[in-house]
Amino acid sequence: MTENIKGIAASGGIAIGKAFLMTEPDLTVTKASVANTEEEVTRFNEAVNAAKLELQKIRDRAEVDLGAENAAIFEAHLLVLSDPELIGTVEGKIKDESVNAEAALQETADMYVAMFEQLDNEYMRERAADIKDVTKRVIARLLGMEVPNIGLINEEVIVISKDLAPSDTAQLNTAFSKGFTTDMGGRTSHSAIMARSLEIPAVVGTKNATATIKQGDIVIVDGDNGEVIINPAPDVIEGYVAKIKEQEAEKKELLLLKNKPTVTQDGIHVEVAANIGTPKDVESVLENGGEGVGLYRTEFLYMERDALPTEEEQFQAYKQVLEEMGDKPVVVRTLDIGGDKHLPYLNLPEEMNPFLGFRAIRLCLEEQTIFRTQLRALLRASEFGNLKIMFPMIATLEEFREAKQMLQEERERLIQEGTAVSEDIEIGIMVEIPSTAVLADQFAKEVDFFSVGTNDLIQYTMAADRMNESVAHLYQPYQPAILRLVKMVIDAAHAEKKWAGMCGEMAGDPIAIPLLIGLGLDEFSMSAPTMLKARKQINQLTQTEMQQLAEKALSMQTSEQVKQHVKVVLGI
Ligand code: PEP
Ligand code: MG
Repeated sequence: MTENIKGIAASGGIAIGKAFLMTEPDLTVTKASVANTEEEVTRFNEAVNAAKLELQKIRDRAEVDLGAENAAIFEAHLLVLSDPELIGTVEGKIKDESVNAEAALQETADMYVAMFEQLDNEYMRERAADIKDVTKRVIARLLGMEVPNIGLINEEVIVISKDLAPSDTAQLNTAFSKGFTTDMGGRTSHSAIMARSLEIPAVVGTKNATATIKQGDIVIVDGDNGEVIINPAPDVIEGYVAKIKEQEAEKKELLLLKNKPTVTQDGIHVEVAANIGTPKDVESVLENGGEGVGLYRTEFLYMERDALPTEEEQFQAYKQVLEEMGDKPVVVRTLDIGGDKHLPYLNLPEEMNPFLGFRAIRLCLEEQTIFRTQLRALLRASEFGNLKIMFPMIATLEEFREAKQMLQEERERLIQEGTAVSEDIEIGIMVEIPSTAVLADQFAKEVDFFSVGTNDLIQYTMAADRMNESVAHLYQPYQPAILRLVKMVIDAAHAEKKWAGMCGEMAGDPIAIPLLIGLGLDEFSMSAPTMLKARKQINQLTQTEMQQLAEKALSMQTSEQVKQHVKVVLGI
């Protein structure tokens, strides 16, 4: 029976395919006694071997698709399964206590995990996480259940899951995963951002897709309208196939703008740039006519691995991006970990409000070795292109000064060591916290540029968690309060002859773009596939007219009024 689910349109386009449910099975273990312990040991060994084979497959796939670094975590898991002490303890327990394999494994694993977690040793604590993960895999085998694994998908599917961690999306192979839906999340959760840069249609925040959709159902993900259609009738499928063709034709037409500038009808040139997460994304930036990289989210370099990336590894990544972009500007943002992005190997304590907690620059100013290593890698790479460095989550001037001071110290150290460092690296900040927007006039005297991070600025201004679909109605980009903050930032930058950009998702939003042109934004940074559409739209606008539009919007009362006003004036 056909059924429709509404969600949040997270990544545009349409995908049709068979559902692949990522829900985790119930792996609760019941202790039981067994008569034949020899047989039970064999059953255990078989499950271990099967799990090993599965892990080897995942590792090999990850190595080919995502590189050796991303495959390392699975190597660690394989080591656990080959650990004679752990395996021997489980076997001994089965024999001595005549218990079933799953209970013997669970008890043994719990003991090791508790022991390792207590140690004041980061490496051992990481092992505890590995043991937990591997135990789950073996217990699933013993219970005859399957733990779905995104890295093992080898046919075309639509992925249906409660949530996708950045580690899941990092394993996503777009040759097979044609689209996805999640129960949780909003337009700016990181799974949504990844979907946009991977150019796969996604609907998030569906609340109940995993409960409604069954394995193998035919599903249409309409990422433009935030709709998921389950088991559609043939004529509905036909309609969507026609839409897919239309979108492909539109894409071809947009490509004609690839090497054209972005200029309004009255001759104001702005820059359309891209947000990237890895060096691999540069290809899509250039294919889609990007005039620069407005945000390089470096945290993806730190994720999906067992330890921090070395200075040399980082240097290579930054250098690659800078070289491939030639003389086009590349704004690299320093590490923004925390919030919904975790680094398990840092073993940071759990926080009640991670988005208000120890994240981004706050962490970097404390963990100076991590920060200084990144700064050195960036400074060394600066000779290979047009680098600009940007600090995330700046809330106070002191934070900016402190970060800049460390950058300066590392620069001097490198020069003393005889390493060449570019003379003209612009240093800017993200404006993501209302205090910084309000004090932008002071900041503008000291920074070289601003980039408004609306994904966070909206959540902090409206006190509406960007991940929480229950408050998604309060997450309002067109809210006059947000527009006024954005105006303050742009005006402050211009008063000091600095430039202001935006790298939050709002920068690529067709309703927001006319307003931002009116407010005088200089740079628009967005997911690569959105850039040409934005260029087409901007090229048709007249700035003086958009100024009037923005002025009116600033005096309005609600987000809805602003939205309707833009739609009416522009006929969209
Ligand atoms: C933002 O907050 O707008 C932003 C671009 O940063 P991120 O989405 O990575 O938090
Ligand atoms: Mg942010």
